[in-house]
Amino acid sequence: MERCRSEELYREACTLMPGGVNSSVRAFKGVGGAAPVFIRNAKGAHLWDEDGNRYIDYVGTWGPAILGHAHPEVVEAVCRAAKDGLSFGAPTRAENVLAHLICEALPSIEKLRLVSSGTEACMTALRLARGYTKRDKILKFQGNYHGHFDGLLAKAGSGVLTLGLPDCAGVTPGVTADTVLAPYNDLAYVESLFQKMGHEIACIIVEPISGNMGFVRGEKAFLQGLRKLCWDYGSVLIFDEVMTGFRVAKGGYQNQIDIQPDLTTLAKIIGGGLPLAAVGGRREILDQMSPVGPVYQAGTLSGNPVAVAAGIATLTALKAYRSSEGLDAWQQLEKQTKTLVADLQDCAEKSGISIQADCEGGMFGFFFTQSPVQNLDDTQTSDVPFFRRFFHSMLNQGIYLAPSAFEAGFVSLAHTTEDLAATRAAVGHALEHAKAG
Ligand SMILES: *Cc1c(COP(=O)(O)O)cnc(C)c1O
Repeated sequence: MERCRSEELYREACTLMPGGVNSSVRAFKGVGGAAPVFIRNAKGAHLWDEDGNRYIDYVGTWGPAILGHAHPEVVEAVCRAAKDGLSFGAPTRAENVLAHLICEALPSIEKLRLVSSGTEACMTALRLARGYTKRDKILKFQGNYHGHFDGLLAKAGSGVLTLGLPDCAGVTPGVTADTVLAPYNDLAYVESLFQKMGHEIACIIVEPISGNMGFVRGEKAFLQGLRKLCWDYGSVLIFDEVMTGFRVAKGGYQNQIDIQPDLTTLAKIIGGGLPLAAVGGRREILDQMSPVGPVYQAGTLSGNPVAVAAGIATLTALKAYRSSEGLDAWQQLEKQTKTLVADLQDCAEKSGISIQADCEGGMFGFFFTQSPVQNLDDTQTSDVPFFRRFFHSMLNQGIYLAPSAFEAGFVSLAHTTEDLAATRAAVGHALEHAKAG
C-alpha cells in the first residue's frame, strides 16, 4: 500500500508541529516511527487517507465515533446549530437537554457541569473533591490516564506509557507531592494506604475499565472495595468514564456493575466527535462549584452550542437504535465486538501465538502475552516488537488500529459483518507475518 502523500505531509508537518502531530498518541513512535496516516475523510466504519487508501477503522477517533463517522443525524444537527451561531458565552436550552440525557442514563449524576475536554473534566473533578473534603491528597492507579494536566502525570497511561516516559518533564515535584499511586486491581494495597493516611485522602480517581494501558478490566470486587473505603473514610470516589461512558453500556460501566461513584467524568462519546466533556455527580458536591460554592471553574467555550448539538444527536441516536434483529445499541456493539475478539483469539491459537484479549460493549483490547493482565506491570510482559509487526501488516491490509500496544480499540454501530470478516482475514495474515519476524 502506497502512502506517498502521507509521507510528504508528515515531513512538512514535522517542520511545523512537534513530531508532526497535535496529540502525541497520533504519532507512530510506538510502532517504529513511520509516518502516521494522514486522513482525508471518513464515513461509517471507514477512513480514507490522502493517497486514497481505505481502512476499516478500530480507533473511532479514540472513542467518540460510536455511531460510525459522519453519521447523518449528527452532521445535520451540527450544521443546524452552526447556522444559529457558533458560540454565545451565555446559557442555551440545548445544554438542559444534554444534561437531562446524561442524568437520565447515569443515576449517580444529579448535577453536572459541561467542559471541553476529558482532561478538563478530570482536573475539575479533583479540584471539586479537594474543595469538598478540604483534603489535599489524591489517589490514582498506575497505568490509568486522566488527561495531561500536571498533578496526574505520574505513572500515567496512554501516550505517556507508549512513549515510555517514566515521568513527564516540566511537572514539578511540588505539583505531584499530593498524588499517591497504587497498583490497579490491588485492593489490599489501597486498604493499607487508607489505614495509614485515609483521612488525608480527598479522592480516589479510577478508570473502572482501564483503556489507556491497553484494555484492563477493573475487577468488580476491587471497585466495590474502593467504594466502601471512600464511604468509610469520607473520601470522594471518582469514576473516570471518559472512555467507558456510553461505550461499554448505556450510561457507563458503573451501571453494569451497579456501583455509584460520587463523581463521574465523561467526554469522548458525549461530544459526538466535537470537544465536549462533563463532570457530574452528587448534588451536594457539585454545588461546591462556583458560582454557588467556593471552587472556581469557568470556560469560554464550555457547553458550546455546536458541540452540545453533536452530543444530543449522538446520545439520542444511541437511545433510539435497534438492529434488524431487535438488539439495542450496546447489545449490537457487544455482539460485534465479541465476534472480533473471538476471531483474534481463534487466529492466534491457529498460529500458535499467545494472546490475552477481552472486551466490554464496544471496547476491546489484546496483549501478546501468555500471562493474564491485571495491572501496569502485567502489561509490560506483552511482546511489543511482535505487536509492531502485526500493526504494520494490518495497516497495509487496510485495517486501522491504534498505533500502540497499550491502547484500547473501538467497534462502532457502522461496522458490518463484512467488515469483521475482512478484519479476520487480515488478522490471520498479520499474525503469520509477525511470526516470521
Ligand atoms: C481520553 C481520556 C482522557 C482525556 O480526555 P481528553 O479529551 O483527551 O483530554 C481522560 N481520561 C480517560 C479515561 C480517557 O480515556
